[in-house]
Amino acid sequence: MASVTFRDVRKAFGTVEVLHGVSVDIDEGQFVVLVGPSGCGKSTLLRMLAGLEHISAGEILIGDRVVNDLPPKDRDIAMVFQNYALYPHITVAQNMAFSLMLKRASKEEIEARVKPAAEILGLTQLLDRYPRQLSGGQRQRVAMGRAIVRDPQVFLFDEPLSNLDAKLRVSMRTEIKNLHQRLKTTTVYVTHDQIEAMTMADKIVVMHDGRVAQVGTPLELYDRPDNLFVAGFIGSPA
Ligand code: ADP
Ligand code: MG
Repeated sequence: MASVTFRDVRKAFGTVEVLHGVSVDIDEGQFVVLVGPSGCGKSTLLRMLAGLEHISAGEILIGDRVVNDLPPKDRDIAMVFQNYALYPHITVAQNMAFSLMLKRASKEEIEARVKPAAEILGLTQLLDRYPRQLSGGQRQRVAMGRAIVRDPQVFLFDEPLSNLDAKLRVSMRTEIKNLHQRLKTTTVYVTHDQIEAMTMADKIVVMHDGRVAQVGTPLELYDRPDNLFVAGFIGSPA
């Protein structure tokens, strides 16, 4: 696992600046939630950390390495998206092994990585199934499995639960937290859902219009919001 640092990061699309100098420090092994209303720049920030979006100004570090110009595959991160498109024509095991197969890992190495990941996620009995034979929650688990087998320094989640029904969302929160307890991998988790942020985060970064409104533990934000935006956002129901 590694720390992550955003130093005065800016992003413009054409002439429109959407991130206006974001600085955030994430410790090794921390579970940090970026939360804020739709359009405030959460996904853009995460995509820049993943290397999927160019940085207009500032620096992003993973560990002590500046990654601004590093291609995604060299960043040692794994991302789980909201629409976790699994490959429909291959099995759960093959979906999980896909990135390893691309790297030409041996059959033994693939098995040695997929098996424990499947066990952690309760997918052992489902490895030979195809995605269409799985429930929504099981598919989400396979998407996480794909990330775990890569054994990355940092996990990135972008609203991974927003396509699931309310009940499943609550149980998947717990599963993701349990996973983090077990692997202790540094995690950056994006959501617009305050409840998700409050229940999952070691540290919350509240974003508003391309800026950081406040950083703190769930309790700090709840007890001592810095400004009306944070008070309103954290205090209001999802
Ligand atoms: P969030 O994930 O918090 O909902 P985004 O990071 O997706 O917000 O978007 C932040 C802002 O950047 C929004 O105003 C959005 O319209 C704009 N934006 C995102 N991606 C692009 C793009 N590829 N081109 C132009 N504008 C974009
Ligand atoms: Mg988004």
